[in-house]
Amino acid sequence: MRRILVAAPHPDDEWIGCGGSLLKHIRRGNPVTVVYMTSGEAGGLGQTKEALADVREAEARDAAAFAGIADLIFLGNPDGYLAYDRSNLVALVEILRRIRPDVLYIPHAQEAHPDHAVTHRLWVEASRRAGGPWFSESPGDPWAVGTILCYEVWTPLTAVPCVEDISAFMDLKLAALRRHRSQLDGIPYDEAAAALNRYRGITTGKGRFCECFAVQTLETPS
Ligand SMILES: [Zn+2]
Repeated sequence: MRRILVAAPHPDDEWIGCGGSLLKHIRRGNPVTVVYMTSGEAGGLGQTKEALADVREAEARDAAAFAGIADLIFLGNPDGYLAYDRSNLVALVEILRRIRPDVLYIPHAQEAHPDHAVTHRLWVEASRRAGGPWFSESPGDPWAVGTILCYEVWTPLTAVPCVEDISAFMDLKLAALRRHRSQLDGIPYDEAAAALNRYRGITTGKGRFCECFAVQTLETPS
């Protein structure tokens, strides 16, 4: 059994970026935790930010329940203004030491959306620190994440060292993503995800639909 942790800048990123791979983990019996850095309250007009945050958290719970994910953590950072700061690092180190994931999924470093790029930086630094004698305010024993895989949402990767054939889970992935109705009503993210996964399948030759990842290595902090 391997414990899986996913960092999503906004609700729905986990399904677009690595939903098929998550479904494969769930099918194998690997427990999955999703950490939402923001609740996506800037993702639409016509209602208050508080109301939209509630809607998007409910959609995230609905999609997770549909897929068999029980453990969701909402950090409630401001959508669009996620900060690379110490308080967020302390929170992430605490989560890493508590969940003790074997595999961590995060956005890749070159993602164009600022919240995605900051999410990458925060989790890489937190992963480096969680394994050593730092952040005593984050309880728990040190934990070194085994594998960090970086997914693509807004900006395609230029090199894809890790390829996952998700063909058998593509319909389920799209069904989970479509639970995020507040977002898909305006923009067909499901079509974008299917097109990217199909493109990856064709260009890698590893399956009809594939998710691709960069592999993050950690340098020892000084
Ligand atoms: Zn996002």
